[in-house]
Amino acid sequence: MTGYFRDAGSFEVSSGGDVVRVFVVGPIQTNCYAYVSAGEALIVDPGAAGVRVAAALSGEKVVCVVGTHGHGDHVGGVAALVSATGAPFELAAPDVEMAEHASNPRHSGSGVSYDNDAPAPSRLLVEGDVVKVGTAQFRVMETPGHTPGGICLVGEGTADGIAFVGDTLFPGSCGRTDLDGGDPDAMRQSLSRMGREIAPKTVLLCGHGPATTMAEELENNPFVQ
Ligand SMILES: [Zn+2]
Repeated sequence: MTGYFRDAGSFEVSSGGDVVRVFVVGPIQTNCYAYVSAGEALIVDPGAAGVRVAAALSGEKVVCVVGTHGHGDHVGGVAALVSATGAPFELAAPDVEMAEHASNPRHSGSGVSYDNDAPAPSRLLVEGDVVKVGTAQFRVMETPGHTPGGICLVGEGTADGIAFVGDTLFPGSCGRTDLDGGDPDAMRQSLSRMGREIAPKTVLLCGHGPATTMAEELENNPFVQ
């Protein structure tokens, strides 16, 4: 179930120098991102392809692996990536139990089983925490709804204008709230808050499918009110 892996290319972050690499991994085509800055890489949601993501990098030191939430299609590759790189794994506390049972189809976000349960996180992320990579940093915004521990990572410094939004928001839509841990009321509040607090110019990098911008979503997404 874990064989799918596609290097979907990369783009340069507008503030200069840093690069986002995109890998599409696993049976439900999860977006895994490598944010590369000054020879370091932050890996967001390695899906089910941890070792192949590590191998596809160009020698950058993996300084951190973050799960935007605990569904197996996002964290099923964490164990392999952490053991290949020695990098710490970080996740919000409410999703830890789910991530540690990623191989259980009930927790996988899709009813599909993943090979590896995620290891215990090295740090439990909470609102306002900062994740650093090279000259960039990302601030943690808690956005429950798809899962109780869902987070967005909002870029600052050389990552200004970039946010990783996991399965909370998709172009014109939002993540499912009918899966394990979903909460429609929390989702509404999270999306509303994102619309108020994330700058319109920000490129939103979603957990599946294409990217969008907050300006586009403020105009066209009925869930962002
Ligand atoms: Zn999910």
